[in-house]
Amino acid sequence: NTAQPSAGNASAPAPDAVLRPEILALSAYHVADARGLIKLDAMENPYGLPPELRAEVARIAADAALNRYPDPQAKGLKRRLRIAMGVPAAADVMIGNGSDEIIQILTLAVARPGAVILGVEPSFVMFRMLATFAGARFVGVPLASDFSLDAEALLAAIAEHRPALIFLAYPNNPTGNLFDPAVIRRVIEAAPGIVVVDEAYHAFAERSFLPALEQYPNLLVMRTLSKLGLAGLRLGFLVGAPDWIGQLDKVRLPYNINVLSQCVAETVLAHGDALDRQTALLRDERALLAAALAAVPGVEVFPSAANFLLFRVAQASIVFEALRARGVLIKRLDGAHPLLADCLRVTVGAPEENAAFLGALRAALGLES
Ligand code: PMP
Repeated sequence: NTAQPSAGNASAPAPDAVLRPEILALSAYHVADARGLIKLDAMENPYGLPPELRAEVARIAADAALNRYPDPQAKGLKRRLRIAMGVPAAADVMIGNGSDEIIQILTLAVARPGAVILGVEPSFVMFRMLATFAGARFVGVPLASDFSLDAEALLAAIAEHRPALIFLAYPNNPTGNLFDPAVIRRVIEAAPGIVVVDEAYHAFAERSFLPALEQYPNLLVMRTLSKLGLAGLRLGFLVGAPDWIGQLDKVRLPYNINVLSQCVAETVLAHGDALDRQTALLRDERALLAAALAAVPGVEVFPSAANFLLFRVAQASIVFEALRARGVLIKRLDGAHPLLADCLRVTVGAPEENAAFLGALRAALGLES
């Protein structure tokens, strides 16, 4: 009798009996609780939109057809992106719900049984995680001790593992440096599959592989609007040869970009100079913060072409906690990779946030402020 309370399924399985072992072995992507803290952990733009643009965004959002599914091709936004980002006419564009989703689409598309996805380490951790989710084998080639590409190791790994997909972040996260473009070109030339150059921090580096698309049909360039000031909209995009983009686009969920993200981003990009002014301010702040950090006794700062700085300090984990206790959240990297021993990463914020961080750091290190 189905109306009787049931004893349930006495042999109900535990997750580890059902889920894939590689998922069970993973630790979740950790996002720290930033409530009440100065948030310098996630490479966000600290500035809001200018008031006139906010008012226009409000009007556009009020008029959006929320009862309808979004345009599956996001045609209006794509047109704007092409202009704003200088996408070559011969290339196609695919838009993702953040570049995270594009990484996921790429990994799913190549994950034939036995497929290898290759990257360098330390780099953006989602390359390895999403390759693993897709059931591919991830090969991480260690960077040299100065965080540059180890060209010989990389080319040897490509020859040995024949990766279907290679990820290189340019500039790299969490190290902040730009890899030698000549080595990246050797990788693209040696690759038996596709190479994705992830330009998430392009606005702060002002260097790009977009012009190289013409020369290399197996190159794809990925960007995001997150670091530009629109992290909340979740918009990333991939640029490449129509043959590749057309195939990858089949893996994308049809309505992956919601109505509000499409219309708001289209409006903001039409006033692209607002975000450009903010990124220019942040580039200036990066230089000031790097110089100020380098002047703190006991701190080693690494060169950065992104909107964050990696630095090394003795007992980094204790310093990280001391900063948090003083109201400043940055990113702890100590323990994430041997090359990152005693490393922390701070996002370049607004001047008053950077000053608060520097003050908290000096206090945490027992220096007079
Ligand atoms: N690539 C790199 C190198 C990143 O650092 C990040 C964000 N930390 C991303 C991609 C993902 O960005 P989003 O999903 O916000 O577009």
